[in-house]
Amino acid sequence: MAELKIELISIGDEILIGHTLDTNSNWIANKLASNGLRLRWLSVIGDNDSDLKHQLKRAWNRADIILLTGGLGPTHDDITRPVIAKFFEDEIVTKPEILADLRERFAKRGLEMPANAEIMAEFPKRAKAIRNNHGAAPGIQYNIGEQKLFAMPGVPREMKGMFDDFILPIITSLGDSTYKLKLIQTAGTGESHLEELIGSLSGIEPVQLAFLPSIDHGVTLRISMAANDIDLVEEKLDNALKYISQRIDRYIYAFGGISLEETLIGILRQRGMRLALAESCTGGLVADRIVSVPGSSDVFDRGFVTYSNESKIVMLGINPEIIEKHGAVSSETALAMAESAKDHAGVDIAASVTGIAGPTGGSPEKPVGLVYIAVADKNGSDVKRFRFTGDRQDNRSRSAFSVLVKLWQRLKSE
Ligand code: ATP
Ligand code: MG
Repeated sequence: MAELKIELISIGDEILIGHTLDTNSNWIANKLASNGLRLRWLSVIGDNDSDLKHQLKRAWNRADIILLTGGLGPTHDDITRPVIAKFFEDEIVTKPEILADLRERFAKRGLEMPANAEIMAEFPKRAKAIRNNHGAAPGIQYNIGEQKLFAMPGVPREMKGMFDDFILPIITSLGDSTYKLKLIQTAGTGESHLEELIGSLSGIEPVQLAFLPSIDHGVTLRISMAANDIDLVEEKLDNALKYISQRIDRYIYAFGGISLEETLIGILRQRGMRLALAESCTGGLVADRIVSVPGSSDVFDRGFVTYSNESKIVMLGINPEIIEKHGAVSSETALAMAESAKDHAGVDIAASVTGIAGPTGGSPEKPVGLVYIAVADKNGSDVKRFRFTGDRQDNRSRSAFSVLVKLWQRLKSE
């Protein structure tokens, strides 16, 4: 059987005006992909009759499964129900079982049911109501021939409950084509370099490879394949994973779902090492990332946020002459910060970062985005110069990630 063609239409003016981020689509796409299914088309439209009608028509002409989220509620702007009914030339009737269910819900909470809530019991006659375990508006299911349509509420919690409990089991029982993916997480180099190292993809066909770069997590490689034979999919993906891993081995820090800080903390814990940080332009971002990981207290001792020159001298005890001679943003100051943080905290390894985040403070010799990152441990210290080109927050995030990368690279090499 061919792969199921699944289409999702996300409905709501709030998404189109940038008030709400369409996390529903992202969640559904991810949920489908982790269940061997793939979303084929995705669109977002406003709370608008004719746009929904138009989009439904297009979807019905090409998809096996149509999913909708949003606009199921009782207010006048919620148009999904009547538009779907009209599209299927169905009539809206009051369904006594839905009305009874709604009354019971309000009664349970000791509330009088508002008159406009009754609208939710006005339901397309030939459609099936899907139970909403987290809210009032029921979902709508149409089965027509081989095609199915499911309309879910826009409220994420309600949508998720309905999708997990009722809709996903139905969809997964329909197709026998399986889509699977695996992730390879890398740090320390860019996507073009990785692509160059991997070279020709003929060795992994028909597995597909995609590069997903991110400021905070490095480049993630996604390998994926869809076929009817699940064993074949597994085998091809395993082979592709091996093939790619061999070529980019030294840049891989994890295989899906683990952050670089978690990887780092794992290594430190295993070696019984403790860490300190001295941060200037990142203002504690690195410490925040480390502390976000449960159990980081096993390895993390302290972080110094030394933003001013004075604080670098007073809190870390670095020699004022170094800053005077080379400036706060220099390889010498970065090295002194890492070494002082290590000695001051009495830990095994320390990292430092100093740079110009921008938008002001740059000069021809020291432009915005210039950042120095140093690491010190028992084997000595070393520093690396970076030149980022983003805005202030972007440069700070990249700097923070680069500190994690630098620490990880040092630990790996020892
Ligand atoms: P209600 O019964 O609350 O009216 P509804 O099905 O009519 O539910 P909407 O009115 O479309 O849903 O959306 C309700 C709320 O859910 C929105 O204010 C928004 O915060 C959130 N929401 C809607 N669509 C999405 C989406 N695609 N992604 C994330 N959140 C969403
Ligand atoms: Mg609504």
